Amino acid sequence: MTDNFPPLVLECPECGERYLIPNPKNKPSESRTVFSDGFFFDEYQWRVPLIIGCVTCELGFFPENGKLIAAPTIDEYNEKWLDTKKAQPPSAGALALELRVRKNLPYDKEIAIRKELWYAGKHTETGRKMIQNNQRFNQFWLESLNQLEKMLPQTDADILLLKAEINRHLGFYDKTISLLANTKNVIGKEIIARALLENRMPFIL
Ligand SMILES: [Zn+2]
Repeated sequence: MTDNFPPLVLECPECGERYLIPNPKNKPSESRTVFSDGFFFDEYQWRVPLIIGCVTCELGFFPENGKLIAAPTIDEYNEKWLDTKKAQPPSAGALALELRVRKNLPYDKEIAIRKELWYAGKHTETGRKMIQNNQRFNQFWLESLNQLEKMLPQTDADILLLKAEINRHLGFYDKTISLLANTKNVIGKEIIARALLENRMPFIL
């Protein structure tokens, strides 16, 4: 990763704990795996969660509220920041707590938490297990996903893909297909194909 800029250092606004986020100037790394629901894995240029879990605070923080305290050079990074934790989303259980505890969330913050909860249920081992084994969590997760679907508008083509993908994950195949009826997008067409097979799983692009 010699051609890349080192990660930036973000500080939790509540407790001052520090986290690394990839420098947005970097290109996706070759190890990136992108999924149909917008989630991706990338070892080097990892996904900055829409809400960051803090190891010392009960609740996480939104990256836009974090304080950017360093944009180190490669030498500074190796010397000082190498062992700093990567910013990660809160666990599936902690995300459910975020939604229960935070009141009167602004629209974009509520979307952020519900989206991370969606991803936690589909892309993390803990989240998947909780959905399988914990009936209450399963219910909460489904309700949150339904709510997220209602909150997303149909105006923007990218958001429409997300909305259709949520409907497919919820098993609303007819709605998935009708939302994408006019799509010319290859991903949109693949989502329709999977909906016709009644397949709820995200797929790799
Ligand atoms: Zn904190």
